[in-house]
Amino acid sequence: MKGTRLILMGPPGGGKGTQAKVLQDKYGIVQLSTGDMLRAAVGAGTPVGKEAKAIMEAGKLVSDDIIIRMIADRIDEPDCANGFILDGFPRTVPQAEALDGLLVKKGMTLTCVIEVRVPDSMLVERITGRFSCAKCGAGYHDKFQRPKTEGKCDSCGGVEFTRRKDDNAETVVARLEAYHAQTAPLLPFYEKKGLLRVIDGSAPIDEVTRQLEKATAA
Ligand code: ADP
Ligand code: ADP
Ligand code: ZN
Repeated sequence: MKGTRLILMGPPGGGKGTQAKVLQDKYGIVQLSTGDMLRAAVGAGTPVGKEAKAIMEAGKLVSDDIIIRMIADRIDEPDCANGFILDGFPRTVPQAEALDGLLVKKGMTLTCVIEVRVPDSMLVERITGRFSCAKCGAGYHDKFQRPKTEGKCDSCGGVEFTRRKDDNAETVVARLEAYHAQTAPLLPFYEKKGLLRVIDGSAPIDEVTRQLEKATAA
């Protein structure tokens, strides 16, 4: 697993972030989540955050320029030398092409691209039940992944939790549309390169992790 360079693809709420965190904790490969980076920029009120805020709340995609610049800077940091898990990037064909260029420049190749496949019908429940620890970011779900002790974060003991503003039933529709129109075309892009593996993201969290480990090793 060490040195693995992975892309996790899948619909909003499909479980990409959950699995990326499991692999990060287990194997020390960093999770690079463009969604998390953007939310940090929005929280800090940076120029990027100011531009991205309304777009994210509408469930649309932020411009390729902003995203590509963010990833280019992040991938240069020393912790990425041990491998990385791209979570929520690339999301458009131009982003995938830019990533190819970045990797060539750094003499890196991708280990594989994993599609975490989940039917649309499951995603509203996944997304509307999602919350996370305000202190450490650990992810939870009202029904599928509750903290072991009610009201207390398993990872850090924090007692404050947050919900994303875009995690509502109306915005999910726009996010799913963006996924099918702009991101799903990347699946054949990576399939043609022989990098694509599909796993069943509708299974319980532990089972998805097992499939992910198997697909990455294959
Ligand atoms: P993504 O990063 O793809 O948007 P998340 O990993 O945040 O998705 O998962 C969305 C929500 O669904 C979270 O609340 C998470 O706890 C929950 N979840 C993730 N994977 C599963 C699974 N396999 N079964 C049930 N719930 C899951
Ligand atoms: P999820 O996988 O649960 O939909 P993310 O946290 O990955 O959510 O993304 C949240 C929002 O941030 C997206 O709806 C979009 O507005 C923006 N975003 C994140 N990553 C990208 C990206 N690679 N390209 C464009 N917009 C992005
Ligand atoms: Zn916590």
